[in-house]
Amino acid sequence: MNGDYRRWQAGMQRALSAARQASAEGHVPIGAVLELDGVYRYSHANQSGHSDQPLAHAELLLLQAASQSLGQSDFRRSILYVTLEPCPMCLGAMLHCHLGTLVFGAYNLKWGACGTVQDLSAAFPAESLQCWGGVEELACAALLQGFFGRLRQGPSAEDQG
Ligand SMILES: [Zn+2]
Repeated sequence: MNGDYRRWQAGMQRALSAARQASAEGHVPIGAVLELDGVYRYSHANQSGHSDQPLAHAELLLLQAASQSLGQSDFRRSILYVTLEPCPMCLGAMLHCHLGTLVFGAYNLKWGACGTVQDLSAAFPAESLQCWGGVEELACAALLQGFFGRLRQGPSAEDQG
């Protein structure tokens, strides 16, 4: 467990880098990476900072890119790291891809589908997706709080999952 946690922290650092990239590009700072057999294969930054891209969540973009070359058995062995607890859309996509393990950072009080609002992984036990939350939670949450703090005077972007 201890070894797993260190591994997850390292993976989450990669996801945080992707989140900072999203922020630098004016998007909501959420990042995701996929680890397969100890190798980080894919990384993706959120692109949903604008209201015309409500579905461009980091995890969904990552899964779409990864599924071009990975099959079911690859996804079952993979760990997906994302800085914010996934919304129902993204968790549904993970179930469709037969993802093995999900590790997320901050808890999503508005859209969280891993137990904060609803627990969708438990609702579909046949998929046996393992979910772990709160890894590097403070760093992940601080990025989001800083972003939305700067945005307060502008149009609301808090509807992003
Ligand atoms: Zn989502």
